[in-house]
Amino acid sequence: MSDYRAGVMSEGPGYFFVIGPCFLCRELFMFNPELIICPVVNIGYGEEAVTCCESCMKIVNVARKAGGLEPIPILPAAYQPAPLP
Ligand SMILES: [Zn+2]
Repeated sequence: MSDYRAGVMSEGPGYFFVIGPCFLCRELFMFNPELIICPVVNIGYGEEAVTCCESCMKIVNVARKAGGLEPIPILPAAYQPAPLP
């Protein structure tokens, strides 16, 4: 089992973000953990929300639409650093 759920929280002056591997393409990507909307998939021993990069989410949504499902919203700031509170 890969460590696709591993993510590293990082922050700079006034912002923070998480870098982690995409569940589908395994590429590292940056996301705002408060805004990213994760698809729920069956990972073999149950369903779990997984993080996917923006490119893969667009592909997932094409597949969802083709299957008659609603696309998962991709919020504009979900793949950008988040301002620190
Ligand atoms: Zn991906």
